[in-house]
Amino acid sequence: MNKIYFLLSLLIICSNLFTLYGSLLIKYDSPYVKIDQVTKPQYYYSNKTKEQLNTPPIPLSKRFVLLILDGCRADSFFINQNDYFQSKMLEGQFGLSITEVPTETRTCHMNLFSGRPEDPNSLFYGWTKTPHEFDSIWFHLNYSLLVGPESAIMNYKNMQGKKINTGEKIPKNKHFILRMQLSSEILMNQFPPMNGEPDDIKKMNFPKTGYFLNFEGVDSAGHFYDSKSVKYFRLLNHASNEIKKIEKIVNNHFEDKLTTFIVTSDHGMSEQGAHGGESKYELTTPYLIWGNGISKSKELMPNEKRVKSVYEFEDFDSWNFPKNRKRIDIEQNSIASLLSSTLGVGFPANSIGIINENILYPNNHYRAASLLTNFKQLYTLFDGLLGVPQSNTQFPIYIILNNYFGRSKVSIKTYNL
Ligand SMILES: [Zn+2]
Repeated sequence: MNKIYFLLSLLIICSNLFTLYGSLLIKYDSPYVKIDQVTKPQYYYSNKTKEQLNTPPIPLSKRFVLLILDGCRADSFFINQNDYFQSKMLEGQFGLSITEVPTETRTCHMNLFSGRPEDPNSLFYGWTKTPHEFDSIWFHLNYSLLVGPESAIMNYKNMQGKKINTGEKIPKNKHFILRMQLSSEILMNQFPPMNGEPDDIKKMNFPKTGYFLNFEGVDSAGHFYDSKSVKYFRLLNHASNEIKKIEKIVNNHFEDKLTTFIVTSDHGMSEQGAHGGESKYELTTPYLIWGNGISKSKELMPNEKRVKSVYEFEDFDSWNFPKNRKRIDIEQNSIASLLSSTLGVGFPANSIGIINENILYPNNHYRAASLLTNFKQLYTLFDGLLGVPQSNTQFPIYIILNNYFGRSKVSIKTYNL
């Protein structure tokens, strides 16, 4: 009898361990799969001559400038609006961008650049390192310059043809505000043509380039003083003024008006100045996009109500949105694909982002081609993901089924619009 009890207990323990192993395998299986196919928009008309095949219906952007206000809360950004951002909201689109947990800088940058939340395996590296290579928008550009703190951009240091600049170290003995303002100035000075480096300036003229600047002062002020403090707002204002200067520098340097600008933040922040969690204040970030390839925010019809948010804020009415303009809320993971569309470059292969076509310039062909590319890229990803568990699994039933039926092969056709 004891022997039966022993065997039964052993069986129960084994089945529990097996279930635990299965759950961990699913949870920690990397969502990133290797996809060799590059899916990029094809903007052309089917009945045109060969020379016109690759002529886009609207001039594509030659570059984008992505400016991050690190740790900026959505409410802080919109309540604390200045005239400059107000005018940009009329010129382009704005709203909430919802990020993912953990709401940490590096992981949110992954969501922004590759359209996919962090690989859970990074937990074993303290969320400081991604254990494998991953596709991001930077891989599809001819030249990119990323400037910001080391922790934020070191994930991209092995990319070829890209320049990573972490900047000079700021002396610790300076007053906090001065130190943070200095960090913004150092950041600005590395931005071509401010840095005066002929090589950078030459490369800026390449088509399909991208620039990324990360203003960390806001996040630091939130950590030191909290996200409702005067210093937090002071540094937010300072960074906003720097952004205004950057737009001027870019527009003075290029007269082609083929630049797309986007201002957003990686994650929000709790009132106590912390982030990493899943409160609505940490998960919601602001975004503001304008320039080439972007539509103007739509006017609200009389009696039309403001857009409802996934996260409702009690003080929404006090947010300084432009009067009578429609807000469009997005998922942060759609930003990389959106920028790929405006430049006509490949979409990040592992992105799960879905573009909101209303943000794109209102040309039917341009919007349709972007959505079709988005669909094809998601379809290819789905096919890739479908193959991983089926081909890697050791479960006998799957091995038998695979042998009999094989893995479904998805073929993707290119349609001439
Ligand atoms: Zn932080």
